[in-house]
Amino acid sequence: MTINYDTNVVPLATAKEPKLTIEMVPSPCWHQNARFYNEDFWDIIRYHIYGLAGYTCQICGKKCSEKSGELECHEKFHYNEELGIQTIVGLQALCYWCHAVKHYDRSKGKGVDETLLFAHLCRINDATPEEGVRYLNKKRDECRRRAKLKWAVDFSYLKERFLIPAKNS
Ligand SMILES: [Zn+2]
Repeated sequence: MTINYDTNVVPLATAKEPKLTIEMVPSPCWHQNARFYNEDFWDIIRYHIYGLAGYTCQICGKKCSEKSGELECHEKFHYNEELGIQTIVGLQALCYWCHAVKHYDRSKGKGVDETLLFAHLCRINDATPEEGVRYLNKKRDECRRRAKLKWAVDFSYLKERFLIPAKNS
């Protein structure tokens, strides 16, 4: 798989990660997201992120229309497996397909055509099908391992960066 070193595209990625990473959320962490933290602010935050990105997918560069709802807001999480802490570390404006690949198995479970998901993963990362399969399996193993752990979630990024209070605080 070709490694992408453009840290402007994914500021928080390490140099060893591909351009379009898969970030499946382990089952104990489902729904522990910005909407859960304070859904009243979700639209304000995501449109702010879309504006900062110039209504362009921050991974593949696809230009999206402001009106069509083509862009989606991806929440990037860091998982500290030793401490069991899931931390939101960033937000990204992504096109439908880049976001669908981020949540590969969830997308597949919702009926998204896996052939198209896999093709997008390989195309954006300039990867062969063999490299794509190897990467996908690695991320599935990681997700299964994390699903066996207990997690607390850290939303301080939303509180400190966007001054958003927790819904019921
Ligand atoms: Zn994209």
